[in-house]
Amino acid sequence: ENIFPIIKKFLYSDHEIFLRELVSNAVDATQKITMLGQKGEYKNDLGDTQITVAIDKDQKTLTISDAGIGMTEEEVEKYINQIAFSSAEEFVEKFKDLDDKKSIIGHFGLGFYSAFMVANEVEIITQSFKDAPAVKWKCEGTTNFEMETTEKDRRGTDIVLHINDDSSEFLEEHRIKELLTKYCKYMPVEIKFGEDVINNPNPLWLKQPTDITE
Ligand code: ADP
Repeated sequence: ENIFPIIKKFLYSDHEIFLRELVSNAVDATQKITMLGQKGEYKNDLGDTQITVAIDKDQKTLTISDAGIGMTEEEVEKYINQIAFSSAEEFVEKFKDLDDKKSIIGHFGLGFYSAFMVANEVEIITQSFKDAPAVKWKCEGTTNFEMETTEKDRRGTDIVLHINDDSSEFLEEHRIKELLTKYCKYMPVEIKFGEDVINNPNPLWLKQPTDITE
């Protein structure tokens, strides 16, 4: 119960970072499945691993979708409900007297929960690469959440943010494009927004000099 007010209050000036946090999670999940594929621990086709970011103005949602490793019900319980909260508790305990909380909040695994700065409800719809049912998790920014099995047609995770009225700027294409360009331009997995791929996962400085012209 201490955590949501902190997320909303102390990160106030930095609301826009939620997008970087969620896209980073999508990139991590994608790199994990790619690595399992390379090691032969995941034997199915990797398929299209592009990350997509999409706005639905009618529904007032912003959705970040990946085809990464996904999560089983037990993993959502562990990674989203338990670990994130236990590190947040540690945060509350250690830094209750500190004024500039936002400079260190990133070290406490509050990444996913930064979504609640801009959303009054968040859904996770996820299908693990393991043979397990897909799950849907839903939380309205309190310590309660709902979780149920669901249908999902491909591996990976959709994070659906129901954007709150104060944050309607994040339902504007130009604003999301600006943020993706600002924070995600060189992330190592393709990120698509609308018709465009907004990043360059293979920048010049990662190429062999012999592959580059003067
Ligand atoms: P961090 O990324 O710093 O570990 P987060 O709060 O952002 O902290 O995420 C907590 C955990 O939830 C991640 O470590 C990961 O295990 C899981 N997770 C979050 N987003 C995804 C996703 N898109 N796909 C798979 N797992 C995810």
